[in-house]
Amino acid sequence: MKTTPLTRKEFIRNSALALAGATFIPGMLFAENSAQTEVEKTLTAHQGKKNYTLKNVLLETGFEYDAEGNVTATKTALFSVQIEAGKIKAINANSTDADAIDAKGLLMLPSFRDMHIHLDKTFYGDKWQAIRRGPGGVKGMIALEQKILPELLKNSTFKAEKLIELLQSKGTAFARSHVNIEPTSKLDSLRNLQLALENKKNSFGAELVAFPQHGVFYTDSVPYLKEAARTNIDFIGGVDPFTIDGAIEKTMDFTVQLALDNNKGIDIHLHESGESGLKTVEYLIKKVNENPALKGKTYLSHCFVLAKLDKAKQQAIAEQLGAAQIGIVSTVPFGGLIMPIPTLMENNVKVMTGNDSILDHWSTFGSGSVLQKANIAAQLYGQATEFGLSRMLKLATAGPIPLDDKGKQQWPKVGDAADLAFIDASCSAEAISRLSPVKSLIYQGNIVF
Ligand SMILES: [Zn+2]
Repeated sequence: MKTTPLTRKEFIRNSALALAGATFIPGMLFAENSAQTEVEKTLTAHQGKKNYTLKNVLLETGFEYDAEGNVTATKTALFSVQIEAGKIKAINANSTDADAIDAKGLLMLPSFRDMHIHLDKTFYGDKWQAIRRGPGGVKGMIALEQKILPELLKNSTFKAEKLIELLQSKGTAFARSHVNIEPTSKLDSLRNLQLALENKKNSFGAELVAFPQHGVFYTDSVPYLKEAARTNIDFIGGVDPFTIDGAIEKTMDFTVQLALDNNKGIDIHLHESGESGLKTVEYLIKKVNENPALKGKTYLSHCFVLAKLDKAKQQAIAEQLGAAQIGIVSTVPFGGLIMPIPTLMENNVKVMTGNDSILDHWSTFGSGSVLQKANIAAQLYGQATEFGLSRMLKLATAGPIPLDDKGKQQWPKVGDAADLAFIDASCSAEAISRLSPVKSLIYQGNIVF
């Protein structure tokens, strides 16, 4: 290892070169903000430090209101933030300590979380390929995967690491990744991804969903799912039980039982937008209510059927999802399909977002930024005011935001994990609206760049 401090570019280049292989590395990483600012250099020079103090850190402290009680602006101030053992140890008045790392007034936010992505299955870091539209819908795609997965798996550890670096460059330090578990990949896709995550463990965290992309029963994934469930994965996945397996209850019963038996959560891809989609949602709600151990750790990804329901039914299902503590992970689609995200949020349904595909045989449009997802949601749902924009940050962080709805500071608090993104913006509303650049990332106290 080099002992001299690395610039971020060198850091990225070296970590890429450390992985031998003839794979072509495209120049897309950090293309947008490759200019090294002073603060980036300063932070990069402190890589490896466990305990340190940051000064000139911009934090949101409250809202300013007009006479009618509308939020007109966000109040901020500079602070010094002490990091120790991966956590925020103290937040103090700004210091002039010469030893403190100067954050130069960048806005500190909770680092972002991509809660739906397929890190195991990507072309990213390899050569460009547009998607191919074949016949046969999802089953056609399964046939395509059976053909291409053996090739994809050959360097999937390398590509997963490149993908993680892309996410990091956009301020994301944590992901929920689905990982293919089916008779073609067996557990190889999981093992390759786990290797990538091990290599990145000081700068990136993840939870994993065992994902039977080729159906639980359509191709016999049962033995592989059972084997995966005995490992330290976090969720049992699924995909369109009616379309793929031809049965809702049989597949859902298996999934629920496997999760219960192994103390895992559930996160099911549900694209079906008709009657079978609604039946699947209602059946899952019923099963979670029967098995309260699943409350708070069961999710439906996409769940497009919600966009097709009338307003009254949307409200009724949102209430039931909220009561059963089932979350929705939406990639915030745009086009003809408007997901009822505000209705879900109003009913205490946990709504999270992710990029899903970055560059693969399903889609090639993923930017890697969940801040962009929050921006798209703000545009789709008309959240254009200072207050509305600032609320959308929840989608990028999958939870914590600096100010509560009353403008009271709720983040950061002493004892919070030091998972931090530093943004060149005056407040979170500006960051969402302008997609402000991410200048630095800290994961569990480790300075990533
Ligand atoms: Zn997906």
